[in-house]
Amino acid sequence: MSIAIDDLPVREELRGKSPYGAPQLDVPVRLNTNENPYPLPEPLVERIAERVREAARGLNRYPDRDAVELRTKLAEYLTRTGGHPVGVENVWAANGSNEVIQQLLQTFGGPGRTAIGFEPSYSMHSLIARGTGTGWISGPRRDDFGIDIEAAVRAIAEHRPDVVFVTTPNNPTGNTVPRETVLALYEAAQAAKPSMVVVDEAYVEFSHGDSLLPLIEGRPHLVISRTMSKAFGAAGLRLGYLAAHPAVVDAVQLVRLPYHLSAVTQATALAALEHTDTLLGYVEQLKAERDRLVAELRAIGYEVTESDANFVQFGRFPDAHEAWRKILERGVLVRDNGVPGWLRVTAGTPEENDAFLDAVRELKKEQS
Ligand code: PMP
Repeated sequence: MSIAIDDLPVREELRGKSPYGAPQLDVPVRLNTNENPYPLPEPLVERIAERVREAARGLNRYPDRDAVELRTKLAEYLTRTGGHPVGVENVWAANGSNEVIQQLLQTFGGPGRTAIGFEPSYSMHSLIARGTGTGWISGPRRDDFGIDIEAAVRAIAEHRPDVVFVTTPNNPTGNTVPRETVLALYEAAQAAKPSMVVVDEAYVEFSHGDSLLPLIEGRPHLVISRTMSKAFGAAGLRLGYLAAHPAVVDAVQLVRLPYHLSAVTQATALAALEHTDTLLGYVEQLKAERDRLVAELRAIGYEVTESDANFVQFGRFPDAHEAWRKILERGVLVRDNGVPGWLRVTAGTPEENDAFLDAVRELKKEQS
């Protein structure tokens, strides 16, 4: 007898749902998950091996539960690049920013509470809300994918959510949310509840503008979420972190599993942080490639959303999924995020981007 998920006594809200997952297909050019295309440089690989070897000698013991050394180094990185001094007491780390977001929702959301995001945006915000029993409210965005301050403030006043998500630069659209908008949403969220505002800056290193990190000063309900998966080129490491008022760091510790960050993860992340400058060197290259993708897609005749990230949203297609399939037939995997008429491509190496541009050039000819 075959038994499927729905034959099990799973929670009601999980019935009939599918797990999150971009297809991991074996094709020559994979530009679908906003990864950094450059492998870690060899000296860093060596340093990681060294630090992991050291950590291995102590694996009979649990790791540093509070990851103090790692959080100190992350605080130094933020202080150096984010335009605002932060200390270890402002920083918390977890297995990817997805886990950071999960811990935030376990702490500030949960059954009987709600969270709002302005969609289309990063779909894991709503999925993690579901997983933590937090009600989800889909907030509005304009047709050009910007956030309309008035409409957003109205939605916050009406629904009085416990958590407000703002992703900037936004995924999958690529555009930045202006500082004034975030400030207006923060004020609205405080007037309505008060609630926590989580600014997801997963892609901020690729932005033309600055991090919103300085806004945490005097705003204890504001959280900045970051990751080493994108700019640091370490998606496989699974290391995300947040910066906020020290009370927020204390609060998430109420829900974190003890020893959630393995000694191997901490050692690897510390090694990567020793090579920050080399890793961020690729960011400049990727930004240039991102700008080239925007310019060439427009020259071919596509519409493109202004991008501040390491990916570009392009369209419009009468049938985006059909276009996705045709690009895949040409050996290039991009992402169909379910935004009607639009697809998303991650900036890869110059060669990968050329292969992508050839594919969409042919597609344009075929469709016109
Ligand atoms: N936030 C945003 C906006 C993202 O696009 C992603 C990755 N796709 C994440 C968070 C999660 O990244 P990670 O868990 O790898 O840190």
